[in-house]
Amino acid sequence: MDTIKAMFCKLKDYVAKDTVRQNEPKKITVIVRMLLLSYIVYYVVNIILCCAVYMHMQSMVLFVLCILACMLMFCMTYRGRMALTFWGFAVVTSVCVILYVHFYGWNTGVQHFLMILLVLYFFSKYKNYARKITFAVVITAFRLAMFNIYYARTPGFILLSGEIRTLQMVNTIMIFWCLSLICFVCSESSQELEGKLLEYNEILEKQANEDALTGLYNRRKGREILSAISENRAMAGNCCVSIADIDFFKKVNDTYGHDVGDKVLKMLAQLFEKEMRRKDFVARWGGEEFLFVFLNCNGDEAAVMLEELRRKVEGVKIPAGDKEISVTMTFGLTEFFVYDSIDETLKAADEKLYRGKQQGRNRIIY
Ligand code: GH3
Ligand code: MG
Ligand code: MG
Repeated sequence: MDTIKAMFCKLKDYVAKDTVRQNEPKKITVIVRMLLLSYIVYYVVNIILCCAVYMHMQSMVLFVLCILACMLMFCMTYRGRMALTFWGFAVVTSVCVILYVHFYGWNTGVQHFLMILLVLYFFSKYKNYARKITFAVVITAFRLAMFNIYYARTPGFILLSGEIRTLQMVNTIMIFWCLSLICFVCSESSQELEGKLLEYNEILEKQANEDALTGLYNRRKGREILSAISENRAMAGNCCVSIADIDFFKKVNDTYGHDVGDKVLKMLAQLFEKEMRRKDFVARWGGEEFLFVFLNCNGDEAAVMLEELRRKVEGVKIPAGDKEISVTMTFGLTEFFVYDSIDETLKAADEKLYRGKQQGRNRIIY
């Protein structure tokens, strides 16, 4: 059992081996390898049928030749380029279809193998619509030509109706298997790609909206939130905006170093996120300035919440070398009315902040 499992793993690795050229997608090459292996099994089944049922030695020779061609193609996939691999596969399939129809007639359903080529070609080319359409036209013309040549023609071997039914079933199973294989691999990879794109978009969006140091929303996102509120008039009726600034922050940097300054910003950001209501917003507005947005409350209610926050800021102990420091903040608070513009509101909050600094800092001006 273990030996079979090990052999299967080895075969899987061998089939999934990358293309020779780095810049070529390996998907189609891997699909072609899987199809060629399936073809080999299919021809072996045909040989068994030949030996056991119809006793047609010539067609047995054809199937043996097909197996050899598939093996050759399989080896070529490890040396050639993707295009060469595809066209080699197309030649093997087309020649086999012609000879099969020649020997066994039109009713065995083998002509549907051409659809495998069509699907494979469509999945292997990117954005090359003209070539895809041309290929579809060529394949259709090829099939129509074969129909006209072979439909009324007596095949090389006359089969009994039971034998034709058996071949129809074998061919149908094989064609559906090959088509499923192609669709499975291609849909898997496109789903994977889609997943990666979504993930990448989320990362990009996060980077565009987030301040790298504190993890809070950045100024751009802060303004976006204000615009959204401004557009949603019903909500903007009851909302407050505050701009806050750390007091004497330059001194912290000068005395304890920039790293401690950064630590202050990070710890305060964590405090804001922890203490604020889920529906409210905070953004890093500038260096050591923050924008607070309180939804569905009036100025008095927002002032109470800010006062609570101001006291908690005072209480945060920030490690600075072998001691702990604390900072204070000054807040300018204003109501954001339906008829106010964003710039006017921010200006009002800024002016109040300035007044707070002038009046001695560590306070809320409303
Ligand atoms: P005030 O109370 O009047 O606000 O005084 P202040 O010292 O806080 O004001 P000032 O605007 O003079 O100083 C702000 C300082 O914030 C200057 C700048 O070096 C610092 N700063 C801005 N961004 C960062 C940052 O990302 N990290 C650190 N560590 N410091 C920053
Ligand atoms: Mg400042
Ligand atoms: Mg400051």
